[in-house]
Amino acid sequence: MIGRLASWWRRRRAERLAIPDPAWDAAESGLPFLAHLSTDERRRLRQLAREFIAEKQWSGAQGLQVTPHMQLAIALQACLPVLHLGLDWYRGWVGVVIYAGDFVIPRRVIDEDGVVHEYDDDVMGEAWYGGPVLLSWFDDPAEAGGINVVIHEFAHKLDMLSGDADGLPPLHEGMSRRSWIAAMDEAFEDFRRRVDAGEETPLDPYGAELPTEFFAVASEAFFETPQLLRDEYPQVYRQLALFYRQDPLTPA
Ligand SMILES: [Zn+2]
Repeated sequence: MIGRLASWWRRRRAERLAIPDPAWDAAESGLPFLAHLSTDERRRLRQLAREFIAEKQWSGAQGLQVTPHMQLAIALQACLPVLHLGLDWYRGWVGVVIYAGDFVIPRRVIDEDGVVHEYDDDVMGEAWYGGPVLLSWFDDPAEAGGINVVIHEFAHKLDMLSGDADGLPPLHEGMSRRSWIAAMDEAFEDFRRRVDAGEETPLDPYGAELPTEFFAVASEAFFETPQLLRDEYPQVYRQLALFYRQDPLTPA
């Protein structure tokens, strides 16, 4: 009931957002990986993106002016993973914070000996548990160096829905937890070995850091370069297709 009420409110607020077709077209033309979607899916993606824009609180960091184009481009990418899951998968938080390019997060960690280490971390994005998603914005997507920061951070949000960010999001009924873990673990270990050996890999080497990063990086590839992911790690591709309930290589 609460879910239904929430989606009713969301739709009502979204209806008040007037987004002209040329604005959608311009945002979509910068996202070539949407090309495989059917007409029906594209319509649905726009509707989700509209509701997502209406529902979240948008802010620019360090004086950045958030433009409608930024919102559209980010919302379309954020909603692609939940196209067949629904916006409830992004429940429990509201903030989307946009930075101009990459940014610095001051970190403070205390090690086992109780020594405090403070350092600056250069990042392109971050997803906070129960909190906002922080994203860098590049006017020229080439500047992001092949990284899809939006899909990456929103994959973390899905991962966190099960409690921890550990590369295991809540799976659907009928999916096998054991098959998921087997596919992800095997691929992660292999990927780590290859990255450690200095091998050139088609996936972002950052995925070798932690299982949650591997899930986020594999999700980026699943949507942006699905053929590459399926060639490298077919079992991972299969599990992601089951989880996202879509198959970019076999359009609906
Ligand atoms: Zn990450």
